[in-house]
Amino acid sequence: MSKLSDKMNKRVAALTPAAILTFNQKISTIPDIVKLTLGEPDFNTPEHVKQAAIKAIDDNESHYTNSRGTEGLRQATAHFLNTKYGLNYDPDKQVIMTEGATGAIYSALTAMINPGDTVIVPTPIFPLYVPILMLAGAKPVFVDTSDNGFVLSPEKLSAAIDANQDTVKAVILNFPNNPTGVTYHRDDLQKLADVISKHDIICLSDEIYSELTYDGTHVSMGSILPEQTLVMNGVSKSHAMTGWRVGMICGPEEIINEIAKVSEFTITSLTANAQAAAEEAFKNGMDDALPMKQEYMKRRDLLVAGLEKAGFSCPNPNGAFYVFAKIPAGLNQNSEAFCYDLAKEAKVALIPGSYFLPGGEGYVRISYAASEENIQEAVSRIQTYVDKQSV
Ligand code: PLP
Repeated sequence: MSKLSDKMNKRVAALTPAAILTFNQKISTIPDIVKLTLGEPDFNTPEHVKQAAIKAIDDNESHYTNSRGTEGLRQATAHFLNTKYGLNYDPDKQVIMTEGATGAIYSALTAMINPGDTVIVPTPIFPLYVPILMLAGAKPVFVDTSDNGFVLSPEKLSAAIDANQDTVKAVILNFPNNPTGVTYHRDDLQKLADVISKHDIICLSDEIYSELTYDGTHVSMGSILPEQTLVMNGVSKSHAMTGWRVGMICGPEEIINEIAKVSEFTITSLTANAQAAAEEAFKNGMDDALPMKQEYMKRRDLLVAGLEKAGFSCPNPNGAFYVFAKIPAGLNQNSEAFCYDLAKEAKVALIPGSYFLPGGEGYVRISYAASEENIQEAVSRIQTYVDKQSV
């Protein structure tokens, strides 16, 4: 008799546990370890946003809502994006609310992908796209950007499209980027748009860290190539609201209508009070993100200065709350081995760069969504570790 698990979906069976979470669990057993591992804001959700959710509960807003999201939330979302990023989305036709940015990625890819399609994924990148692509039956085409300051070049994009011209459906961009913290500037985006517009493909632009852009201002891909872009964003990172699970997709009406079918039969409706909270957040024009952004900037500067003193190099950490640091020459360049040793010997937990796919080996991702005190302690322990290794 075959095992019950043999009867399961082969695509699900092929998934493996997320390396980051497994690593994080393993090193969590080390006593007194300082963890700079997770991409989880360490602030509280702003008070007026929480109050909006409480009011929604008190007002008995406890019913199914429109599966695209409440009208108020879609209007607030479109108004925020349109005014801040020069976009032009119609809240009734071009906006759909999702279960966080994760839900946006899942719904968009499920609606778009046919088995056998390929999707271009510039790396290093947040690894979650890969299992979602696998579930949808698509194949990721990785394009290593580490030789171009972690920015996808138009030449590499063009070559990847040409090499997969019969199957390519989309390209994924994420900026500010997890894990590198690198942002794309208007020029970079325009050059990519020039390539994309020559082909019948969609750009999935994951801009979940848009409000955490430090040097310069965020430019949305939706303002450059609206007819071929799906902008994905949400309140998780900007408002310290990861657990509220509110994200969104904005884009061409034709595509949003297809994604809406997936939402209608899967999520049915986001939680009513979470939508009320997110509406309040967007209505405030994301001003809530500013004090957190100031704090992250201070921490970034502290971290980068300490890492550089210890011999790491940190290319362009302009956004999100990550530094992607090159392990100093002379130390173990196998990032996983390096991180396990650092955790054991120095009691500092960082994430191996190799977990973020091609181009990440030899680097570590360091999250500064952590207190200044912890960052200072980690930097001092790293310095002692490096000094010992260099003797
Ligand atoms: N996209 C990127 C690049 C991320 O780093 C994350 C979370 O870390 C997500 C999407 C998921 O965001 P959410 O919590 O809104 O689902």
